[in-house]
Amino acid sequence: MLLSSSALEVGHMDRLKINEIFFSIQGESTWAGTPTVFVRTSGCHLRCHYCDTTYAYEAGAPMSVDEVLTRVTSYSAHHVCVTGGEPLLQPATLLLLQRLCDAGYRVSLETSGDRDCSLVDPRVKKIIDVKTPDSGAPFSFAVENLKFAEDVNTEFKFVICSENDFAWAEKFVRENQLHKKSIVLYSPSFGKVPENWLAKKILSENSPARLQLQLHKYIWSPDTRSV
Ligand code: SF4
Repeated sequence: MLLSSSALEVGHMDRLKINEIFFSIQGESTWAGTPTVFVRTSGCHLRCHYCDTTYAYEAGAPMSVDEVLTRVTSYSAHHVCVTGGEPLLQPATLLLLQRLCDAGYRVSLETSGDRDCSLVDPRVKKIIDVKTPDSGAPFSFAVENLKFAEDVNTEFKFVICSENDFAWAEKFVRENQLHKKSIVLYSPSFGKVPENWLAKKILSENSPARLQLQLHKYIWSPDTRSV
C-alpha cells in the first residue's frame, strides 16, 4: 500500500520526525568506509521490495533542527549522512542540511529520487536513487533530477534486482549520460543478486557504473540496526 506524501509530511520548517541518530561506518557511496553520523528521518511513501529500513516507515520522535545538531556534535565525526525513510518528505530537512554544512560538516543526502532535489544545498553530496523496474517502486524517478548529471557532487544509485534491471539501468544511464560528470553506482539487491554476477556484468558489458556493496552488511550482521 502506498501512503500519500501529505500524510507523512511534517509541516514545520524547523522540526522533523527523526527515527534514529547514530555513529557508524558509511557503507555506501564513494564515501564508503568513512566514520559518519547518520540522521535517519521517519517516513517513506515508497515500498521497495528490498527495503532494509521498514522500521523507519512510522516510528520516530519530533526534534528541532537545533536538537538534531546538538546530537550530531556529540560525536567526533566530520561526515554526516541524512537518510531515511525519505528525508525530502519533510520540509525541515532542507534547513537541517544547510545548517550542517554551515557548521563545517561534509554532508551527504540519501534520497529515493522521486523528489526534486533542486532546493537541496549545493554543498551537499546527493546520493539519488533511480528505482528500477523490479524494485517495487518502478517509474518513481523525478525527471527534474536528471539535471544533476552535470553535477560532480551527485551520485546516482541503482539497486539491481535482476538481469532485466541491469539492462534497464544501462539504457537509462547511457540515454541520459549520467556518467559524464556524476558518479553511477550499481548495488546488488542484497541476498537476491550475487555480487560476483553483477561484477561480471559490469565488466562484460563495459558498463560506466561502479560496483557498490553495502559495506555495513559485511562488517556487521546483515540485520543489525543502527550501523
Ligand atoms: S525508498 Fe528507501 S526507505 Fe523507502 S521503501 Fe525504498 S528502500 Fe525503503
